[in-house]
Amino acid sequence: MNRRRRIYEGKAKILYEGPEPGTLVQHFKDDATAFNAKKHEIIDGKGVLNNRISEYIFQNLNDIGVPTHFLRRLNMREQLIREVEIIPLEVVVRNVAAGSLSTRLGIEEGTQLPRSIIEFYYKNDALGDPMVSEEHITAFGWAAPQEIDDIMSLAIRVNDFLSGLFLGAGIRLVDFKMECGRLWENDMVRIVVADEISPDSCRLWDMKTNEKMDKDRFRRDLGGLVEAYSEVAKRLGILTESDNPAAKPGPTLVKG
Ligand code: UDP
Repeated sequence: MNRRRRIYEGKAKILYEGPEPGTLVQHFKDDATAFNAKKHEIIDGKGVLNNRISEYIFQNLNDIGVPTHFLRRLNMREQLIREVEIIPLEVVVRNVAAGSLSTRLGIEEGTQLPRSIIEFYYKNDALGDPMVSEEHITAFGWAAPQEIDDIMSLAIRVNDFLSGLFLGAGIRLVDFKMECGRLWENDMVRIVVADEISPDSCRLWDMKTNEKMDKDRFRRDLGGLVEAYSEVAKRLGILTESDNPAAKPGPTLVKG
């Protein structure tokens, strides 16, 4: 299996050459990192859960006409995706103040924002992913003005869809990060949602208790990360009630 050509290895995922030209296999690892990889741990079962949760979100996005790189899930840890040229930006959408926004602007965590806010960060580990403006993005050629417009429209659609999806599961979507890529089809290029959307890249708070159900459990040493991700999957209907997903050796997943 692992004799396939490895195209790229990131902190939490590996990309392999796909079975057909223009495709890749996205493999979810159990590695958890934070603070620009200064904190690192292996968390058994995380990759399996993120694969399933991200599959569910991307498939739903495809189904409502939001273009993504996702084709289909292959197995517990892998999915088949279209090869895209990743735009080197992390697009963060915020509904409620938390994390770096609260720190930077002194707004108390949990404050509802007057409207959804979109921010861009330049994907560059050596620089610690600095926040950038549209001016930087166009001046340095990371994306064209029309592409920024397309990215922002996608970000708003994804935010609206995810907010409703999680609301129905009793979860508040505080913020999330998404990435976009350029997909070539014949001589046309379009922007699609790429990478993953999972509790690793979202802030998800239980609507009733405000309990954190996302990677802040790892960042803030709260423990119970796999249990929280399992609960997210269960509420989305990806895991059945009768499963005990937090039990070793890993979660039992249903729905082929
Ligand atoms: N995020 C991410 N990858 C990053 C940075 C942020 O997925 O490299 C997500 C993070 O999980 C949160 C949102 O983007 O849902 C906003 O993160 P923030 O800017 O508050 O940074 P943090 O507090 O995570 O450093």
